[in-house]
Amino acid sequence: MTNHIPFNRPFIIGNELQYIQQAIQTGKISGNGHFTQKSQQFFENQYQFKKTLLTTSCTDALEMSAILLDIQPEDEIIIPAYTFVSTANAFVLRGAKIVFADSLPNHPNIDPSQIEALISSKTKAIVVVHYAGIACDMDAIQAIADKYGLYIIEDAAQSIDSFYKGKPLGGIGNLATFSFHETKNIIAGEGGMLVVNDERFLKRAEIIWEKGTNRSAFFRGEVDKYGWMDVGSSFLPSEIVAAFLYAQIEELPQIQTKRKAIWQRYFDELQPLQQQGQLQLPYIPDFATNNGHLFYLICNNLSERTALIQHLRKNDIHAVFHYLSLHQSPFYASKHDGRKLPNCERFADCLVRLPLFFELTEEEQKRVVECVRSFFK
Ligand SMILES: *Cc1c(COP(=O)(O)O)cnc(C)c1O
Repeated sequence: MTNHIPFNRPFIIGNELQYIQQAIQTGKISGNGHFTQKSQQFFENQYQFKKTLLTTSCTDALEMSAILLDIQPEDEIIIPAYTFVSTANAFVLRGAKIVFADSLPNHPNIDPSQIEALISSKTKAIVVVHYAGIACDMDAIQAIADKYGLYIIEDAAQSIDSFYKGKPLGGIGNLATFSFHETKNIIAGEGGMLVVNDERFLKRAEIIWEKGTNRSAFFRGEVDKYGWMDVGSSFLPSEIVAAFLYAQIEELPQIQTKRKAIWQRYFDELQPLQQQGQLQLPYIPDFATNNGHLFYLICNNLSERTALIQHLRKNDIHAVFHYLSLHQSPFYASKHDGRKLPNCERFADCLVRLPLFFELTEEEQKRVVECVRSFFK
């Protein structure tokens, strides 16, 4: 064992290797086999999602969403600027213009009160990101979407097993996307899922998923040959990925319990520093649950954050900042309309994420906490 505490460590917890072997032995390791169907059934039963399709990433599921909504050049999509590039890229690939929204003052999530001013006759959709698995204020956002006839897509990459007023995240928007990347709560290496909550998209989603063909309907015996029906691509993961994922799904309760306990320990141990006004801890509104996806703290400024990360690194602890503001990115800065997004910029400069992964031990966590405390002394 080394002394180093990584930011993340991928893990296996149950039957991952057994299920991969089983997939190989049954002679099917391409997509949409036994473990893909078992995984999809789990999510549909557990969270009442109308239809789920495993994908090779959340990025792919976002790209499928943009195809499903038939996004055209000149369409406008409202997206928080404090997010991962894929949230925006999926729509840029279809030629859309991204209208970036600011975060709330006290949370990286999109500020619903600023959305309405961003809507034009070209606006097609609002993409929300439930940052750290904490729900956006979906009633407020739904009211705006209904008023202007806009679609809602939930980028629920970080939101597995988290809720808004009792409703599972990923089950609220017309479409939603999840990630099973190795940094998320349940993992498959690279992996994702599209959730279709709006019936109008059910049939087409499956065709886009299967390279634009009605192959899935063919294998169910609904048509006697399959052909090219629509645009599409190869969005399915192999059964090897699905087998790994299904083993993680079986241990979801244990994973969630452990992650939430780690999260809570960080919160309790660092609370005195917040009370002394040294830093800010995560805020969770009453309408949202916490799924223990990530633990962050907010420093007072960029130089303090840089120094904290360096201090942790000197002590063999890997802590990391998170998103750079997309509206200021080399790719999009010249396309952005110039509005300042101060809350987003503050999170980009001041937020730091502490190590949080399933196998993090209490000893390791104590070291992280002590190290943060010693920095602020
Ligand atoms: C992780 C993440 C993604 C990308 O997920 P992949 O599965 O790696 O494509 C997209 N959006 C958000 C908010 C994420 O956290």
